[in-house]
Amino acid sequence: MRRLNLASIAKVATLFAVSGLAITACSPPPLEGVTAYEGGRLIIGNGSAPIENATFVVDGSEIIAVGPTGEVEVPEGAGRVSLAGKTVMPTIINTHMHAYQSREEFTQDLKRRAYFGESAAMSLGLDSPEIVAMRGETIPGAAHFFSAGLGITAPEPGRSFAPYTPPYHITTPEEGRTAVQEQAALNVDIIKIWVDDRGGQYAKLTPELYGPIIEEANTHGLRVTAHIFALEDAKGLLKAGVSSFAHSIRDTDADDEVMELFAQHPEFVLVPNLGGRGAPTDLTWLRGSLPDDEIAKLEEGNVERPDAQAAFGIQARNLVKMNDAGVSIAFGTDGSTPWASHVEMEDMVAAGMTPMEVIVSATQNSAAFLRMENAGTLEVGKSADFIVLDANPLDNITNTRMISDVYLRGEAVDRATYP
Ligand SMILES: [Zn+2]
Repeated sequence: MRRLNLASIAKVATLFAVSGLAITACSPPPLEGVTAYEGGRLIIGNGSAPIENATFVVDGSEIIAVGPTGEVEVPEGAGRVSLAGKTVMPTIINTHMHAYQSREEFTQDLKRRAYFGESAAMSLGLDSPEIVAMRGETIPGAAHFFSAGLGITAPEPGRSFAPYTPPYHITTPEEGRTAVQEQAALNVDIIKIWVDDRGGQYAKLTPELYGPIIEEANTHGLRVTAHIFALEDAKGLLKAGVSSFAHSIRDTDADDEVMELFAQHPEFVLVPNLGGRGAPTDLTWLRGSLPDDEIAKLEEGNVERPDAQAAFGIQARNLVKMNDAGVSIAFGTDGSTPWASHVEMEDMVAAGMTPMEVIVSATQNSAAFLRMENAGTLEVGKSADFIVLDANPLDNITNTRMISDVYLRGEAVDRATYP
């Protein structure tokens, strides 16, 4: 990475002086790869108040200075981009989605995610080894990819996992441990388990099965995230040392016992993944991005669903309770829709979190959950991954959809055409 080299600037100045040219008449030598972004409102992503008139300087892919305009020294020769009237926030990090199972389709999906402001996405448990091998790659104009590889569940006869790769179906602790060992050998980022009887249709993983899975994962330095539905399973998993839930408690309201278990596990991360409010949502903002026939198809399914509304009510109350209790909240959408983050953020605010809390969950908290040390906030030393918005999402969270530009690793994503 190029750094500012004051010595070479001084040398150029000396040359001009020696050659008899008036330095003041010359523009400074351009500093290649250094750009100052000036005058926008900056949401850092760590929950602190936004800087209303900010300047930040990017050298290559890295933020090297940030602060109020006037307090940040812009290096001579740096490129300058005015962001007056705009709001800047960190890119979105999605810790629960599912990858397409062909390299070509998934590469396109990662580009679509970048188009909508996502810089990283973790696929939870339905990935073939070929897809897992894509993790850690940097594809120009595309989000980074994390993977749980193949997850582990109890047998679910007759249930299709298409279009994804089916997970492990285990019935003994040994099978669970073997599955973890195989996935650890692929260097997955986390182990995914499902603990859900799907409305009484299947036998679910018991503590005797998931306990050894969590233990085996931990011996390989891996954490376990669990798809759950029921309060009692949440308790069992917390007692067994699970690191995260990929969905929240959905059958009933959280009780004192589970809140006490959360308090005893401060490292635990909740990904609420609300799954929609069961009410029609605004899709007009997708016009100009998605083809019209695709939007028309989405509108057909964009209807009132009373059962989903009741489920959302439970989840919303639980989310607020956990957020108020200080449980770390990260961000995920489930599914394979590249723009779903913007709906999930709206739903989290509808549930009762503030726009700032939701943005922190989708940026700083999710980067921490994925152990991305150089991402999640717009601070010195972090990767220059940011979204330039035409309106302030702290006023209305749906303003995250008013995207003017997306920058990944210091480079503007080409948004002229939808990928
Ligand atoms: Zn999922």
